[in-house]
Amino acid sequence: MQSSIEIGSCRLTLVRAGVYHWDGGALFGVVPKTLWHRHLPADELNRVPMAFNCYVVETGEHTVLIETGGGDKMDDRARERMLLPDPFPLPEILAGAGFDPERIDTVLNSHLHWDHCGWNTVRRNGAWEAAFPNAVYYAPAGEYEQAKRRHPRDSVSYLDANYVPLLESGRMHLLGGAVAEVLPGIGMHRAPGHTRDMRVVLASSGGRTFCFFADLVPTAAHVKPTWVTGFDLFPLETIDTKLDWLDRAASGGWICAFAHDTGPAFYTIENRGGNYVASPLGE
Ligand SMILES: [Zn+2]
Repeated sequence: MQSSIEIGSCRLTLVRAGVYHWDGGALFGVVPKTLWHRHLPADELNRVPMAFNCYVVETGEHTVLIETGGGDKMDDRARERMLLPDPFPLPEILAGAGFDPERIDTVLNSHLHWDHCGWNTVRRNGAWEAAFPNAVYYAPAGEYEQAKRRHPRDSVSYLDANYVPLLESGRMHLLGGAVAEVLPGIGMHRAPGHTRDMRVVLASSGGRTFCFFADLVPTAAHVKPTWVTGFDLFPLETIDTKLDWLDRAASGGWICAFAHDTGPAFYTIENRGGNYVASPLGE
């Protein structure tokens, strides 16, 4: 698998922080299993594999980490239910892939669900500290508002230890507005549906664009606009938002990445007569 590519002066690398399992019915919402199981076969408990995909963007000046995976804060019952592997710290996985964790200067969380910001923090000397000691962290402001609500529907998705210590120490900045340009050429764009304020990440250089779709398109199977997960809070908005971003990705020839796909690191998207198709890059 090609895990690294260059666009302009940027180098993009997939770092997969493990694979877990989730109920296939929840992942595909109202889509019948007879349709989705051809794309993602389920085990005997109806679970399908999902990756924690993180991407490193090296701009020459900055080293940016998009998402931090699932972390080590889930309890044993949850770990067993999701077949979560024993925690292996993301900083160590990055080091193994050739990225010194101290070199990461920017961390972007598309939203604050546990499976996107789990390795933001690590436990040291009885306290939660930044796992990336030299990084400034960014997350959507609306996500923190939703986390604080502790609504019965989605409170299980938010673990304060992943972001509160960073907010209290001033290391995490919350982003407002529809578009937040975090660094030159790297922006976080509001893409409502999964949650109200989830963001997709765009990185552009040399006339080319990379798009991390986060949970707007969690796997390549979800490029079908109506294939929306059961846990999206605003499923109709997901469809509208997805159509908009898929159209931009297809017409712009973007390089695309999905948060939980267990396949290739990079895809391109084509609009074939109104049907969107994701193909591994280079095919
Ligand atoms: Zn999510």
